[in-house]
Amino acid sequence: MTNISKEKIENLKSKVKGQIVLPSDSSYDEVRQIWNAMIDRRPALIVRCAEADDVPQAIAFARENGLEISIRGAGHNIAGNALCDNGVVIDFSTMKNVRVDAEKKRAYVEPGATLADFDEAAQSHGLATPVGINSTTGVAGLTVGGGFGWLTRKYGMTVDNLVSVDVVTADGKRIRASENENTDLFWAIRGGGGNFAIVTQFEFKLHELGPEILAGLIVFPFDEAKQVLTQYREFVKSAPEELNVWAIMRKAPPLPFLPGDVHGKEVVVLVTFYIGDAAQGRKLIEPLLRFGAPHGEHIGAQPYTQWQKAFDPLLTPGARNYWKSHNFTELSDGALNSMIEFAGKLPSPQCEIFIGLIAGAANRVPADAMAYRHRDAKFVLNVHGRWDEGTDDEPCIAWARAFFQASAPYASEGAYVNFMTEEESDRVAAAYGANYDRLAQIKKEYDPDNLFHLNQNIKPSL
Ligand SMILES: Cc1cc2nc3c(=O)[nH]c(=O)nc-3n(C[C@H](O)[C@H](O)[C@H](O)COP(=O)(O)OP(=O)(O)OC[C@H]3O[C@@H](n4cnc5c(N)ncnc54)[C@H](O)[C@@H]3O)c2cc1C
Repeated sequence: MTNISKEKIENLKSKVKGQIVLPSDSSYDEVRQIWNAMIDRRPALIVRCAEADDVPQAIAFARENGLEISIRGAGHNIAGNALCDNGVVIDFSTMKNVRVDAEKKRAYVEPGATLADFDEAAQSHGLATPVGINSTTGVAGLTVGGGFGWLTRKYGMTVDNLVSVDVVTADGKRIRASENENTDLFWAIRGGGGNFAIVTQFEFKLHELGPEILAGLIVFPFDEAKQVLTQYREFVKSAPEELNVWAIMRKAPPLPFLPGDVHGKEVVVLVTFYIGDAAQGRKLIEPLLRFGAPHGEHIGAQPYTQWQKAFDPLLTPGARNYWKSHNFTELSDGALNSMIEFAGKLPSPQCEIFIGLIAGAANRVPADAMAYRHRDAKFVLNVHGRWDEGTDDEPCIAWARAFFQASAPYASEGAYVNFMTEEESDRVAAAYGANYDRLAQIKKEYDPDNLFHLNQNIKPSL
């Protein structure tokens, strides 16, 4: 463990408003926990920022003491890059404020805010912007990697709705980036991950929504998987962008609307989400019920903020997680067959394969408009390897890797950086494709020493 003198720590404490947490503090183990229980790292100190001005101080301290820096939003990233061993964690968990200007339809979001914090503040004015599907995820990490969720078909990726960012650069300067100021930096931050600067405030545009939406699940027997998924693939081609439908294959949780003998058995689930008139939504969803003989369905009008938490019970922190992901422009028979084959041999009750539909507004943005470039991707596939005991690491990781390989021939180019695991640094260049060279140039300008390297790292160009 790095030895830093008491005097240096006291000096830092006198300069920051936030709290400094050290390995000797009783809260240390709690504060260094993140969502994925596989990640166990011991930072030299954690700076729990209270205001943006704490960030340059933390950066200067790390530089002066030759320490690595990691950045923590809400700590959900599967690779665990929010934490470092023996370095400085710049931790935003206590900077969660969300301010909404309802008239201008803008939200100003601090980097520790979760999706729940954001959704609740925006929905109190009947507004929203696309974010992810698990309310405890951080706005910060989700946004800098791209961000998609139920509203993406209609309103694009989270980054497509980003208006400006206030940041601290690697040399400790506080600046703003937008379409009008520091435009290269703004281009890079929209998808380039935590590589370029530390964001202290995000400004988003908001859309009118709800407060009620129509959403819920249709659960089919697993032996109907092929017929359900082939009809799903056809259905979504012409479905309006107000309607989103994702497909999940997993063991059925003990949901009250399912017969008891289905609980724990493999099932295919169509997850539906509709914004607009509920009666019209029911009509649109109705054909899905005839894709097979469902075990049960549970679809109803409900507050958007409630739906945004619907999957939280399946995605609690504290489990061990290993994920793999591909993008798809189409779901070929080969892709579906490999999904069904591997869903038929799930190594734990919590593992699942899901297909997220993002076709729509996100596809209409040019691929070079910003760092995030997968504008041809219509589906994002995620293999959730998830289990509780360390003794299950080997079979669960092996299953996720084998499925990833088997489905790779049917995937489109690129990868979604927010779903990449620690050892996938070889996929970073592919994730950015033709945008990579420009990113490397911008990295050289803003972070030539690669101070911000605990991420899906883009190296400064030579
Ligand atoms: C259960 C679960 C559900 C998910 N669902 C979705 C989904 O529906 N849609 C989707 O798009 N993604 C989803 N994700 C992926 C999610 O977008 C990423 O894990 C994201 O990195 C989480 O952000 P965070 O702030 O919580 O993570 P953290 O681990 O805190 O941060 C991740 C990385 O983001 C960067 N970062 C964080 N804060 C800042 C900052 N202030 N400035 C600059 N860089 C920063 C850093 O590089 C950091 O290492 C999900 C993840 C989980 C675990």
